[in-house]
Amino acid sequence: MTKEELWESVLAQLQFKVSKPNFATWLKNTRIVEKEKNKTSVAVPNTFSREWLSKKYHHLIFEVLREVAPQIKKIEYVIHKDLSSFQKATPKKTTAPKSIPSKTEQPSFEELSVNPRNNLNPRYTFKDFVVAPFNELAQASAWAVAKNPGHVYNPLLVYGGVGLGKTHLLQSVGNEIDQHSNLKIEYLPAGKLVSSIVASIRNASIEELKHRFYDLDVLIIDDVQFLAGKEKTQEEFFHIFNNLYEKNKQIILSSDRPPSAIATLEKRLRSRFEGGMVADISQPDYESRLAILEAKAQELNLEIAEEILSYIANNIQHNIRELEGAINRIRAYQRLHEKEINLDRVRILLKDLIGAPRKATTPQKIFTSVASFYNLNQQDLFSATRKKEVAWPRQVAMYLLRKELRKSFPNIGSIFGGKDHTTVLYAFNKIEKQIESDEQIAGEIHLIRQRIYSE
Ligand code: ADP
Ligand code: MG
Repeated sequence: MTKEELWESVLAQLQFKVSKPNFATWLKNTRIVEKEKNKTSVAVPNTFSREWLSKKYHHLIFEVLREVAPQIKKIEYVIHKDLSSFQKATPKKTTAPKSIPSKTEQPSFEELSVNPRNNLNPRYTFKDFVVAPFNELAQASAWAVAKNPGHVYNPLLVYGGVGLGKTHLLQSVGNEIDQHSNLKIEYLPAGKLVSSIVASIRNASIEELKHRFYDLDVLIIDDVQFLAGKEKTQEEFFHIFNNLYEKNKQIILSSDRPPSAIATLEKRLRSRFEGGMVADISQPDYESRLAILEAKAQELNLEIAEEILSYIANNIQHNIRELEGAINRIRAYQRLHEKEINLDRVRILLKDLIGAPRKATTPQKIFTSVASFYNLNQQDLFSATRKKEVAWPRQVAMYLLRKELRKSFPNIGSIFGGKDHTTVLYAFNKIEKQIESDEQIAGEIHLIRQRIYSE
């Protein structure tokens, strides 16, 4: 294996282990410049990168490198000031089998190219969005809005679990409108909205900020559940919302749960959110998962046996991002080995995505996940208050301690400040029952579990 090939396969693996922006910032522009028997030198553009890579990513890089080239015992980071021109001077040798056209040579290394005019990522389009029963309603509503912004459903709110396509769909609407009109569009994750509002209140420029929003034709806010508990932001956003709404400007929102389940969302804002079209994306069924896998494989010009696709569709059930991850790994493997992959290989390759025994969790992780989900301080869970906003999360925490960690009822009682075991038992039964009878509660608990087991 040449050093280029070696590094390419290391990067291919690293992409799955590092967030996209981090990958683009720290790893993308690196090269192996020297490879000896058991040592390699990796070129980085400057001192800062060198520090960062050796402090934060060395362990990971080393681990991945050793998987591909076990003989390597040492990595050195060296500065190549001209790294960008250096790249151009030595065009990348492709290791792709001949059958893969060069267009798809490195799509997953793509720049995180966000359009600075409207914050939209052009990668998200309707064209690449697979429509199936689980997302049909949301897609159709989004499409209708894209074709007639401000006049069909206002606002449009799409909700659904993690990795099911909310961001993709919202941004597709923005991109579609942008392509066919001169309307002024802005996409903003709710977390960013909160920080802009907070900052502009601090430096007394909130009116200016609001007027910037008033100027828009289409405002897209992703993950509005993050507005929960942010009273000042909600108040300002209420004004922005009304101003746009009254002028028939389009507002598009997403959330990981229905508005009625966003704790501490002001009533008037909730009713605004519910006032237009609320469309959910549910869990994809087997056929839908298979269709998505096929679409993704085709997009990358990959031939993957039916048996393998069906294995993945059977085993990855809750998250489209993970389906994509599986396809990308297979692609990396096929590129490296220049041969088709078989099912046994796939099983090994996807071991940590599929059927991995559930990672152990801790009471601490349960407390933080529950508290952050309901936007509480963790101490609140242990306080004596009986207020509903706190009592319910506390019962959920009790339920999860039992369910996930098999803690005894008396033990859970004492964790929560000496409560009687019957109190815990009551909470446990109540929640268990509600999960069965109330889809929304079941979804809520599912989301909290996802948080507990993420990272
Ligand atoms: P969410 O915002 O709901 O967490 P994303 O929109 O980020 O989910 O989707 C996760 C990944 O799955 C993205 O890479 C997205 O392109 C892809 N994806 C989601 N839904 C679809 C779909 N229906 N068709 C094709 N790709 C999809
Ligand atoms: Mg999202």
